[in-house]
Amino acid sequence: MLFRFCPGCGRSQSETAFDEKEQKFTCPNCDFVLYRNTATTASMMLRCGDEFLFSVRANEPAKSLLDFPGGFVDPGESIEEAFVREMGEELNWCPEDFQYAFSLPNIYKYQGVKYHTSDVFYYAEVSEKPVVIPADDVAGLSWVRLTEISEDALAFDSMKLAVEQLKEIFGVG
Ligand SMILES: [Zn+2]
Repeated sequence: MLFRFCPGCGRSQSETAFDEKEQKFTCPNCDFVLYRNTATTASMMLRCGDEFLFSVRANEPAKSLLDFPGGFVDPGESIEEAFVREMGEELNWCPEDFQYAFSLPNIYKYQGVKYHTSDVFYYAEVSEKPVVIPADDVAGLSWVRLTEISEDALAFDSMKLAVEQLKEIFGVG
């Protein structure tokens, strides 16, 4: 259960106060309403030849698993602004050109709370590998061929689907 007490009036709550499908809490006592809106993330699928750049997650959830560089969109940011900021924070590098590829829904579990996210994937390509320095919540960076990736090594369901889509787009696997 998300809330044991209403944040509005403080009365203790039953399971039924939170609508899982709508992600909406409604207090039957004071009518306080709280929506848990879907959070947005921005990630980069950077290609160089037949390799893509993956980050190794430094922290939970999915610690040590492969992810694309990226992160959550902050309040007041556009998704593109979040993309540029995250690349600076995680790689100390950002491509000059990048384009929207696709988006996928995901569930991100953090400290016992389930966050629904909409993961936005951008595509970029380079002819030479740039100097990238892992920082922030990235433990390492590696260039990997799509054919060499095992699904178990990928951090999230949306990552698994994104890699599947890349394999289709580039006709590999
Ligand atoms: Zn209440």
